[in-house]
Amino acid sequence: MSHRLRFNVSIPLSRPDLPPLDALVPMLEDIWESGVLSNGGPYHQRFEQALREQLQVEHVNLFANATLGLIAALKALGLQGGEVVTTPYTFVATANALRWAGLTPVFADIDPHTLNLDPAAVRAAIGPRTVALLPVHTYGNPCNHGSMADLAGQHGLKLVYDAAPCFGVRAGGRSVLAQGDASVVSFHATKVFNTFEGAAVVCADARVSERLARLRNHGLDPRTAVEEPGLNAKMSEFNAALGLLQLERVAQAIECRREIDRRYRQALGGVSGVECLALPAGVELNHAYFPIFVGAGYPLGRDALYQRLQDHGVDARRYFHPLVCELPAYWRAPVRQDELPAARRRAAEVVCLPIHPALTQAQQAFVIDLIVRPHAAPAVRAGAPA
Ligand SMILES: *Cc1c(COP(=O)(O)O)cnc(C)c1O
Repeated sequence: MSHRLRFNVSIPLSRPDLPPLDALVPMLEDIWESGVLSNGGPYHQRFEQALREQLQVEHVNLFANATLGLIAALKALGLQGGEVVTTPYTFVATANALRWAGLTPVFADIDPHTLNLDPAAVRAAIGPRTVALLPVHTYGNPCNHGSMADLAGQHGLKLVYDAAPCFGVRAGGRSVLAQGDASVVSFHATKVFNTFEGAAVVCADARVSERLARLRNHGLDPRTAVEEPGLNAKMSEFNAALGLLQLERVAQAIECRREIDRRYRQALGGVSGVECLALPAGVELNHAYFPIFVGAGYPLGRDALYQRLQDHGVDARRYFHPLVCELPAYWRAPVRQDELPAARRRAAEVVCLPIHPALTQAQQAFVIDLIVRPHAAPAVRAGAPA
């Protein structure tokens, strides 16, 4: 197909899992007939309710995307200026959302073993202007929620999780989205669970939930006049209908990812200078990403390995390099730990390998071979995507 030629990529990093188009058509016919396209219509209501049940949480608000969900969550918790301690080792949307909510990101270092915020670094970064913590469950690997909640409690801070990659992740038998004052999960095309674009904000408090529902709809309230300026961040009926179908598929998609993760670990676990992320205990992961860290013991540098993969049509990515605090938009943001040594080291070592349900065993074997035999010509040719 033409887009494959245009992008010239044989093995993509991710490929969206979609239901058969036939399953969506009756829903679209229904939407066409009803004329209800947005503004909390019947599919929106059904999808929100289905998520409440699936996640076993009381308050879920759908959003157009996670970036708007984060902005609205920060606003709904009453934050109006001040500093928010967050991670530099993330997608830029985390910090962008803070800026759009009128807050100042303060970057603290990560734990090199989990890639999540290091509680000691967070404690050191909390100052008199700090109003909240915004940790990210990096790669869907849950943060140490106990430590984050303790720090927030001790210092009177709000705790908001950027849980964008976390659909399906459970810790201690519960969805990680149930943690903190609010958690925001993305349904973007590149995530484990997608509605093309979309997101949900999960929160603990009924009043915060009501405020979120107003903020995503221009600040409108059926009972009163507009009391604060809202956004238009609503999810459309199309995205909600797709979400209902995707809910039936996601467990199978995660199962495929788990199997790919297992094969990568088996093949790469013993390669000198290549480190895989440790599997945390008591956690059901969704295997959204498969990062490896290329150290001194490997015959090639990280960038040389990255280039080797690219040259052979494997679209691996250096997520998250550069760090957010290294992007020009954030050069002036405060960094309390001058060096951020762990984040800088991991950003210099990381390569995320392709992982998605359509990745074939042959494609995965090709990727693995490029890594395991860094100087050999590729053993097989990359096939077209499945
Ligand atoms: C994908 C992602 C986002 C942005 O989600 P959108 O729904 O695309 O706005 C934010 N933070 C992290 C960590 C992400 O991975």
